[in-house]
Formats: sequence, structure tokens, C-alpha cells
Amino acid sequence: MGNLDIEGIINALRTITSGHQGPVSLHEPTLRGNEWAYVKDCLDSTWVSYVGQYVDRFESMLAEFTGVKKAVAVVNGTTALHIALKLAGVEPGDEVFVPALTFVATANAVAYCGAVPHFVDSEERTLGLDPHKLRDYLKSIARIDVGGCTNKFSGRRIKAVIPMHAFGHPVDLDSLAEVCKEYKIEMIEDAAESLGSYYKGKHTGNWGKLSVLSFNGNKTITTGGGGAIMTNDEHLGKMAKHLTSTAKIPHRWEYRHDYIGYNYRLPNINAAVGCAQMEQLPEFLVRKRHLAERYCDTFKKIQGVRFFKEPSFASSNYWLNVLLLDEASYKKRDEVLEATNDQGFKTRPAWDLLNTLPMFQDCSAMDLSCAENLVKRIVNIPSSSFLGKANAQT
Ligand SMILES: *Cc1c(COP(=O)(O)O)cnc(C)c1O
Repeated sequence: MGNLDIEGIINALRTITSGHQGPVSLHEPTLRGNEWAYVKDCLDSTWVSYVGQYVDRFESMLAEFTGVKKAVAVVNGTTALHIALKLAGVEPGDEVFVPALTFVATANAVAYCGAVPHFVDSEERTLGLDPHKLRDYLKSIARIDVGGCTNKFSGRRIKAVIPMHAFGHPVDLDSLAEVCKEYKIEMIEDAAESLGSYYKGKHTGNWGKLSVLSFNGNKTITTGGGGAIMTNDEHLGKMAKHLTSTAKIPHRWEYRHDYIGYNYRLPNINAAVGCAQMEQLPEFLVRKRHLAERYCDTFKKIQGVRFFKEPSFASSNYWLNVLLLDEASYKKRDEVLEATNDQGFKTRPAWDLLNTLPMFQDCSAMDLSCAENLVKRIVNIPSSSFLGKANAQT
């Protein structure tokens, strides 16, 4: 077995987080802006529920920041995925490509639509979906006709693919977009982890027909709980708003609904927190990138691990920083987790691959050798924005 310097890892964490008291969490929110003032304004005005100026403002801020035409705020990222899939045309019985290495919500949302996940592999360059491997796989399993793409073996329509920008690092979106075009497959980006991450200079979430964000407490910005559906298609944007607000036809007094809608709206009080968080997002990103830079420098000197850096085509938000254990050291992963947690540094492994979970173990899957290898070697380390500096030049 290779040499893995666990003592060195702990010392590095200690150096980089020095000055921060107590256990160092994995990702803690910073709520030091206008959160109090905006929430107080909601309470004072009694506009606490689904309608209110902060919802509109939060949606505009998201659209402006990411460059998408329309952002629709909803109660969480999982519901955002559910509606994005429905609007992309995913129907019961369809297959949807989902990376095996992602948070369980990505596959759950497929199941909510009555569709089935079909698990695909990652690449080490991005930790996300491997478009080249997907194309090779499609060559052997897909049939294309007027109705779109069919899996020759299951007989199901392959309607969509959900790339997930793992830990904030963008997947190779141009290559994936080509594969989607060639095989008539819709792309929905799970950008839950990648607010503030750019692919070739453009914000993630702009490649999919629709894309989603999450504002859970551990994400780059938080609204307590929250999410957003984003799209550059005006009509889909309107439908996203309509379906997530019970599909009620606007009227001064009538209650008329024209679809089976969902009550997935983000309350104004949560959106108020979101507006305050968006004001601080540029600073959070500077701090997070500064922290990543320091980790990168420090872990260069430590045997048996490598700090995972953004792919060359990307600028990443470094949502959760990733240490990759060397191939020779992966068996010591749990020792690393134990030693670091014992010392007050919250660390964790990646998610179990979704194809290994009881409810998804019978789903189709391609060869997953890269994801299987990565999942044994990934250790997430403390990543809160306040651990980095705002004026990173000095
Ligand atoms: C956080 C997250 C979601 C959605 O999470 P919610 O907790 O429902 O807001 C979806 N996909 C990924 C990859 C995530 O990390």
C-alpha cells in the first residue's frame, strides 16, 4: 500500500482553518448581510407567504447572475428537478440517464415522473458525467427514429439526461450537448451545487433545456430550504411558474385551474433571505476560491492525496472541496475520515453510488468503473466561505 500521510492531512486542515473555533463544519452558511432586515420587513408587512416582492426580486437576481432568461423560485431543489423533468417531456415509462455519482434527489425526481433512471459513468477530469463514454454506449444501445431515442434492449424511450456538476465542478457541457443533439435526448442540468460555476466563461445552467438550483442550508447560498427552475425558453419559464403555483389562472377572485398543478412556491420570507444571500454571493465566491487555492498549495506537499482542481475549461465555485486519495491509498479512506472527524474537522465521503441503493439496484447501468473508483477515493473537507479571505490578492 502507498504511503498516506494522515498526520499531514490533519496538520494541513489545522493550518488552513486556524483562527476558527470549535469543530470545523463541512459547509456552514454565512448570514451577515441584510437577512435580518429583509425578514423583518416581511414580518412587519405581513407579506410572509407565497406572494410578495422578495420572490420576484430573488428570481430576477438569479436570472441576472446566471444569465438565464427566467428563474422560478420553488421550495427546494428536488421539487425543481421534478418539474423541470416534467416540462422537458419526461413521461411514465421513459428512461433518463443519471450519473451514478450524484445526490439521491437526481434519481428520485426521475422516479416521481414514473420514469426510470439509467445510470451512467463519470470522468476523473470533472467528477461528473463522461460525455464520450456516453456516446460510445449509445452507439451500442440506441435506436433513433422520428419518436426520438429508444433503448434497443429495454424498449423504453430514452428521453433525457441529467448532468450534475459535482461539488460545483462543471461537466464537459459542449461535448454532452453534441451527444444530446445527435441522439435527440433532452438535457436538464442539475446545477444544485454549481451556483457561481462557469463553463467556458458562461454560467452553468445555460446548456440544458431547463436546469435547477438548490438553496438548502449547506449550499453556496441558502434560503433555509429552497430551489429554482431555470430556462432560456420563455414559454417553459411561464409554465414552470404556472405549474408550481397550483396552475391557477390569474384572476382577481376566481379560483380556476387548468392543469394538475403543484404547490411548490418559495415563500416570500425565504426569498427575503435569498435576496440578502445573493447580494453576498460574489464575495462568497472570492472567499471559496481563495480557500481552494490555499488547500491546493498545502496538499501538494502531502503524500498520498491530491486536491481536486477545476477542469481547465471551467471556473468553479468549489462548493465542497475534494481530496482525492491516490489509487494505492484508497483503503485508508475510512481511517482518514475517522482521524479528521476525531480532531474536529468534519469530512465525509461521496454519496454511495445510486445503482447500489435498494430502490435503484435493478435499474439499467453502463459500465461504472470510473465512478466506482472515484467513490472510494473522494473525501470532502471543510468548505465554508468564511474560511477563505475576501481580499485574496494579499
Ligand atoms: C442539494 C442537491 C439537490 C436538491 O436538494 P434540495 O435539498 O431538495 O434542495 C439536488 N441535486 C443535487 C446534486 C444536490 O446536491
